[in-house]
Amino acid sequence: MSLPNWPGVIENYREFLSVSESTKIVTLKEGGTPLLPLLRIPDIIKAPISLYVKLEGQNPTGSFKDRGMTLAVTKALEKGAKALICASTGNTSASAAAYGVRAGLKVYVVIPEGNIAKGKLAQAVMHQSVVIQVQGLFDQALEVVRDVSKTHPVALVNSVNPDRIEGQQTVAFEICDVLGSAPTFHFLPVGNAGNITASWMGFKKYRDIGRIAALPKMVGVQAEGAAPIVLGHVVPNPRTIASAIRIGNPASWTGATNASVESGGEIIAASDEHILEAYRMLAREEGVFCEPASAASLAGVIAYARKGLFRQGDVVVCTLTGHGLKDPETALSVPYTHISVPPSREAVLEVLGF
Ligand SMILES: *Cc1c(COP(=O)(O)O)cnc(C)c1O
Repeated sequence: MSLPNWPGVIENYREFLSVSESTKIVTLKEGGTPLLPLLRIPDIIKAPISLYVKLEGQNPTGSFKDRGMTLAVTKALEKGAKALICASTGNTSASAAAYGVRAGLKVYVVIPEGNIAKGKLAQAVMHQSVVIQVQGLFDQALEVVRDVSKTHPVALVNSVNPDRIEGQQTVAFEICDVLGSAPTFHFLPVGNAGNITASWMGFKKYRDIGRIAALPKMVGVQAEGAAPIVLGHVVPNPRTIASAIRIGNPASWTGATNASVESGGEIIAASDEHILEAYRMLAREEGVFCEPASAASLAGVIAYARKGLFRQGDVVVCTLTGHGLKDPETALSVPYTHISVPPSREAVLEVLGF
């Protein structure tokens, strides 16, 4: 949740983005998200670090996708587009659907059938986009929309659209603006790899203009069952509970490898078990509810701590890419206690142990 007078990422970082005075900006006042210090997890994982989470779930549609979507839709409108199209594991469609409404454009979202979190589908439906479920995987859906947008007048707003990447750089600007420098490490989940590509671009831009002196080491975290970059080959049938990173052939593959190599970081894989451990730890210990894919970043931090890869005083930032409410089914998939009582004072007091 940004400040009441926060203007949105394009207005706030106008000098770094390719918009002109006359550009009509399509915004839902995205960005300006909190950089929250974690209170307990560094001790729990025995890491001598300052650990922050960038709460991207507090963007207007509940994920970082809004940072890129505001620019992609602004530019599409400027170029005279009448309709938008995207393939999506869910959050891109939610974002495109909402910004499409703002811009007065028709939106087509192509999603893998039966493979999208309920909250995300609800958003696309509420914003009146045309939801096309394909009997296949995300990677196939992306291939189809790329193909269609080449020959027909529908603007593609996936992260293969450079405007998306340009807008998404702003997360790095915000982190540096708050910390006064870059963190030592930046951890983030990697799916189609647009976000790590964009974040790295943002840090480099801030370094080039002298706002920060040193760059962070970028550590991208894939899910073990969907880790093409770690394995070095396409994964034809990616599997993971973390649906937002269930991607077998990332569009920005080279962007991700460049970011990790140039920064002295790496791309690693985390098991679903470790992703879910991090997901629950954030909610239980810190009051932070993110979606499973987002927690891959913290799973990476926990793996680093276990291997003793941090130094005293390292500043570590995790991007928590999306809000936990997007995927209530995964949240409720663990055993939890239902206590059912009659509506009486006595019955409630008994549960309280008085
Ligand atoms: C899109 C998304 C990702 C993956 O980002 P890429 O840019 O595709 O690597 C991770 N987490 C969430 C919640 C997302 O919506």
